Amino acid sequence: MRPPSHIASTDPRTLVREDLRDFTGYVSARGTTAAGNAWLNANESPWTNGSPGTERLRRYPDPQPHALRESLAKLYGAKVDQLLVGRGSDEAIDLLLRALCRPGGDAVLTCPPTFGMYAVCARLHGTRVVEVPLQDLPAEGFACDFARVGDVALEEGVRLVFLCSPGNPTGNLLPLDAIETLAIRLDGQAIVVVDEAYGEFAEAESAVSLLTGRRNIAVLRTLSKAHALAGARIGSVIADASLIEVLRRCQAPYPVPEPCVAVARQAVAPAVLVDTRVKVGRVVAERARLRARLEASPGVVRVYPSRANFLLVRFSDAEAAYRRLLDAGIVVRDQRTAPGLGDALRITIGTPEQNDRVINAVVGMEQPA
Ligand SMILES: *Cc1c(COP(=O)(O)O)cnc(C)c1O
Repeated sequence: MRPPSHIASTDPRTLVREDLRDFTGYVSARGTTAAGNAWLNANESPWTNGSPGTERLRRYPDPQPHALRESLAKLYGAKVDQLLVGRGSDEAIDLLLRALCRPGGDAVLTCPPTFGMYAVCARLHGTRVVEVPLQDLPAEGFACDFARVGDVALEEGVRLVFLCSPGNPTGNLLPLDAIETLAIRLDGQAIVVVDEAYGEFAEAESAVSLLTGRRNIAVLRTLSKAHALAGARIGSVIADASLIEVLRRCQAPYPVPEPCVAVARQAVAPAVLVDTRVKVGRVVAERARLRARLEASPGVVRVYPSRANFLLVRFSDAEAAYRRLLDAGIVVRDQRTAPGLGDALRITIGTPEQNDRVINAVVGMEQPA
C-alpha cells in the first residue's frame, strides 16, 4: 500500500547550496519582457549569413522554448513549471549536483552497478559518492535495499540520492511506493532523483506521479532512447517548480540549440508519438524473444529480467562471448569492470535481424569443458 502522500513536504529550496540561494545567474538579452520590432539588444547580426537553412538561426534561441516544454510536460504528465529542458538528462544530473552540493564538499548516494554519469559529475565537482550496492537476488534480479539507502543517506548527510529505474545496466524497475517512502524519510534532507531514461520500455507508471505529494523528488526523462533522438541532446528534469527555477538559474543562458528544438518538437507531435509507441512495443517483444533464446543457449549463465531496451547477460566465458559477437560484427557493452559484473555483457535490443545475429553468435558458442 502507498504511504499517505499528504504528509507535509519541505520546500526543496532549503536543500539548495546556501551560497546560491540568492543567485540570479546570467541575465540574458533574450530574457527581457520588453516589446519591440527591432531587436538590437543581443549583438546578433542584422543579416543572415546567406547559407541555406540558417535564417532562423540568426538570433539566440529561446532559453526554455515554451511550445516544446508544454509538449514534454504533457507527455510526461507534469505541469509546465515543473519541467526544465536541457542538453540531455546528462545536463540535468550535473545541474542538480552543482545546485545542491558544495564544490569540494557534501555527498551523493548511488546504487551500483548503475549509470556512470552520477559518479563522474560528482567527481568533477569534488563531491563524495557514497554507495549502497543493489542486491542481486536469485529470483527477481537486481533490487534496491531502500531501508539501507535511507539509513546511509541520513548517516552521511547526502544531498542527492540517484536511483535509476529501469536501472542501467541492471534493467530492474524500482517500486514507486518504496521511492515515495524513501522521499518521505529524506524530506528536508535530500532530493531523491529518479532517472527514467528507459521509462518508455517499462510500460509502468512514472515517478512523476509522486510529485503531487512530494517536493523532494526529481525525475529525469530523455528523448535519447525510445524517441530515437540521442543526437539531438534533449532531456528533461521534472521536479517541484521552485527547484526547477533554481536549476534554470544554474543552467547555461541558451542551453538548447534551435535546430534541436525543432526536431524535438517534431518527435513529440501526436502522429510521431503513435509511431514511437509502436516501435517501443516492438523492442519489448524482441526483448522477450532474445531473452528466451539466450537463456536456452550454452555458455549463458544468466539473463536478467529487463524493463529497458537491453539485456544484461552473464556468461561462463564472457571474453569468448564478447569475441564471438565481435567476430560477427556485433559490438556490445562490456560490463566486466563494473562491480559484481565480472562475467557480464549488456546487449542493446536491435532490429529483429540484428537480434538474430546475436542469437546465432551466442548459440553457436561451444559449451565450456
Ligand atoms: C542514456 C542514459 C542517460 C543519458 O541521457 P541523455 O538524455 O542522452 O543525456 C541518462 N541516464 C541513463 C541511466 C542512461 O542510460
